[in-house]
Amino acid sequence: MIGIIGGGISGLTLAYYLQKAGKEYVLLEASNRYGGCIHTDKDTGRELGPNTILEDEYVQGLIQDLQIEDDTIEANPISKDRFILKNGKIQKLPTHPLKLLTSRFFSWKTKRQILGELKKPYQAIENETIKDFFVRRFGQEVYDYAVNPFISGIYAGDPATLLIKEAFPQLVAYEKEYGSVIKGFKNNQSKARKRTLSFKKGLSYLPEAIAQALTQAYLHSPVTSIEAIEGKKYKLHTTQKEFTVSQLVFAIPAKATANLLSSLDPALSEKLRHTYYPPMTIVHTVVDRSKVKNLPQGFGVLHPKIENRFAAGTIWSSSIFPKEKESFMFTSFVGGSQYVAHATLDEEEIKTRLWEELKAMHQIPEESLKEQSVYKWDRAIPQYDMALSDAVAIIPSLEKDNIYICSNWYEGISLPACIKKGKELALRFC
Ligand SMILES: Cc1cc2nc3c(=O)[nH]c(=O)nc-3n(C[C@H](O)[C@H](O)[C@H](O)COP(=O)(O)OP(=O)(O)OC[C@H]3O[C@@H](n4cnc5c(N)ncnc54)[C@H](O)[C@@H]3O)c2cc1C
Repeated sequence: MIGIIGGGISGLTLAYYLQKAGKEYVLLEASNRYGGCIHTDKDTGRELGPNTILEDEYVQGLIQDLQIEDDTIEANPISKDRFILKNGKIQKLPTHPLKLLTSRFFSWKTKRQILGELKKPYQAIENETIKDFFVRRFGQEVYDYAVNPFISGIYAGDPATLLIKEAFPQLVAYEKEYGSVIKGFKNNQSKARKRTLSFKKGLSYLPEAIAQALTQAYLHSPVTSIEAIEGKKYKLHTTQKEFTVSQLVFAIPAKATANLLSSLDPALSEKLRHTYYPPMTIVHTVVDRSKVKNLPQGFGVLHPKIENRFAAGTIWSSSIFPKEKESFMFTSFVGGSQYVAHATLDEEEIKTRLWEELKAMHQIPEESLKEQSVYKWDRAIPQYDMALSDAVAIIPSLEKDNIYICSNWYEGISLPACIKKGKELALRFC
């Protein structure tokens, strides 16, 4: 039997495909709900974690297997427009490489640097940070106004500490294989249009649909300790029951894994303890549509660190998924590695400072505010930095002891990456 610890999207996908293949498994989830980071507030329908999922073949396959295509909602086409705050103004980020060169977003000097990337010699640099990689290949402005906010948006991270080889291994491979990141992109671009999705009942609908299909998944079952027994098997102790498993999969955060591994692999356990998850506060701000002249249209705006703002960025939720006729909702991200001090302020101060920023940025009148709500993640997203890189180097060697990792701190944090890892690990067991 395969024991899966953790009922987030990674563990659930793994369990689902094991069950589909007729494999024996048990999935143990500590809390009273499935989904982990995916968390739609049942009362308000607001997303407290991820807001959207980008459809790739694995996401599409899972949705089809679960027969929940009719429950999905696709983002408004306008939300393909993404914006960056530059010199205090909200500016559209050109996404197509040609438009990057023809638009006024970047200076001429930077445009020349972008073109020059095609011929820049390959350099093998060990443990290069995302910042150093992009400054080296594309120059400072691309880093400041495209990469920095993008990393803040995806990883809640600081590109000066995240490693390019861990966060974007394909870019390192492009430089090596094609001598240029742009050439690598061009040669590997998928023609398929990727849809940005959610579900009519919110993103939590996905983990709930998977869990509903599972016959051997248990809530309120925190694994409290693990005992190695003869024949490279393991006894999982929960607060209620014990399970003996022959393969063990950790689908839980790095620190929780470190705690459970302390008796099985003290060296890895010690390294994993240092994994950094910065705090992040999510603020939903609802305004009266009729009182605001020009509501923004698009996915949202990211704030480069150099612009020195309070929030890391804001998603224009009601533009992505127009639901309410009378109201418009902004979902803002306050925190992440580059804004730690902001995330940990008290709720009232966060609300006030954010509202001042939103009003000024979007010319919103004071009287249009209907409501604000705050949700705090003390530990949001694992940082793919030097400490984590050091720890994950050990992971392949665990397999000889029938121990596997299937979690967002190993080989990809996005929902599609977690779904892919879950399915691929299931296939390896079959
Ligand atoms: C604020 C935020 C916004 C995000 N936005 C996006 C986005 O827009 N798009 C995107 O693609 N990704 C986004 N992500 C990333 C994505 O949501 C996560 O990487 C992914 O959901 C992680 O899934 P997981 O199953 O690996 O881990 P988790 O979701 O962390 O699940 C782990 C589970 O393990 C359980 N557990 C812990 N300890 C134990 C134990 N001892 N015994 C049993 N169970 C245990 C937990 O309760 C939890 O349910 C976002 C993440 C956050 C936090």
